[in-house]
Amino acid sequence: MPNLSSGPILGCIADDFTGATDLASMLVSAGMRTIQTIGIPQTPLEAGVDAVVVALKSRTIPAGEAIAQSLEALDWLRDQGCEQFYFKYCSTFDSTPAGNIGPVTEALMEALGTDFTIACPALPANRRSVFNGYLFAGGVPLNESGMQDHPLTPMTDANLVRVLGAQTTRPVGLIDYATIRQGEAAVRERIAALEAEGTGIAICDAIDNDDLFVLARACRDLPLVTAGSGLALGLPANFAERLGHREDAAALPSIAGREAILSGSCSRATLAQIEHARQHMPSYHVQALALEADYRGSVDAALAHAESHLDDGPVLIYASASPEEVREAQQRLGVRQAGELVERALADIARELVERLGVRRLLVAGGETSGAVVSALGVQGLRIGESIDPGVPWTTTLGTAEPLALALKSGNFGAIDFMTKAWELLP
Ligand code: ADP
Repeated sequence: MPNLSSGPILGCIADDFTGATDLASMLVSAGMRTIQTIGIPQTPLEAGVDAVVVALKSRTIPAGEAIAQSLEALDWLRDQGCEQFYFKYCSTFDSTPAGNIGPVTEALMEALGTDFTIACPALPANRRSVFNGYLFAGGVPLNESGMQDHPLTPMTDANLVRVLGAQTTRPVGLIDYATIRQGEAAVRERIAALEAEGTGIAICDAIDNDDLFVLARACRDLPLVTAGSGLALGLPANFAERLGHREDAAALPSIAGREAILSGSCSRATLAQIEHARQHMPSYHVQALALEADYRGSVDAALAHAESHLDDGPVLIYASASPEEVREAQQRLGVRQAGELVERALADIARELVERLGVRRLLVAGGETSGAVVSALGVQGLRIGESIDPGVPWTTTLGTAEPLALALKSGNFGAIDFMTKAWELLP
């Protein structure tokens, strides 16, 4: 009989915010009611949750800090009653010889008292696959995919057994493709053999989704798994006997109120979405140089424009601009200063839209912009709902005075009609 108890079973720790949303969306699609928290919450969880994803920003901070935050997240998840734990990193295994994937994995293993876990960044839908321990991205080895030039985590070796081996004191082994293809029993046998010979972490091959389903079933009894978001395709099925498949995992409470879009993303996809949206709704362009000249005046002008149109449907307020306009602002103000000025303005506008103008449904474009808005609104967590486009779900906020419907879109996500069709999905 399904367990209808409302405590979470699966506790996840993600090393960045958008990666956390990606994982949470996968879990919802696979039938688990999921909440994403922003950092480590100070309070216990609300009821009616099957999985929790704690979003950290620990990918590129010093390894010692990443360990401390991850252990604190683990403690909180254990206090909520979670039974299995999932350390989520990027499907391109973003890390350096100093970490943080190896050191965090090792610390979590020690805290959980386990001597074995797996590591599998494969995400076939995004063409990330692992074969003989080598990670391929877009059909080429990781170190030829462009990741070798990443500013923070250059990946110069595609062999993950070697890469992870350099980051941890535990012996690293491999569960190869031939074993995965033989199915769950063969993988379990291989895990037992690796454990017996003292291997601590096994890189796992996976080329398509079926491989991830096999792997997920074989990991059913491991206290800890580490992976990209791909493993989440299969993991929820392990809990199906207890939870059933929740048809309503993506259901969100209906939230009534005015609607607005705020955009600080200057990515190509967002600029196209803005062009499209401008033909369907009132819009207002906040200029960086105008903010510099008269901050309060510019913010008030944007709010006045919104106020006069909010009764008729969604209003778009955007700082997003062409590369030329951005470059001019950056030359006059400095790159960091221009970015921070615009983020502060959009965050202030968001707060007033909500507190003064009755906006309850808000769409935000831009990763950094979303971070600024979420912190201005005091959002502590998000209940994850249906996806508008892959990787961008509607959510409802936790921790705000009143719950808001919120969608956070990073740079290049979303189809051209993202800003118009999003509203049709809200109850
Ligand atoms: P994305 O997800 O597309 O990368 P982000 O919000 O993460 O978007 O980053 C966009 C950055 O550009 C933010 O710091 C934002 O404040 C800044 N920005 C937005 N509009 C302008 C502009 N007109 N001039 C200068 N900087 C801008």
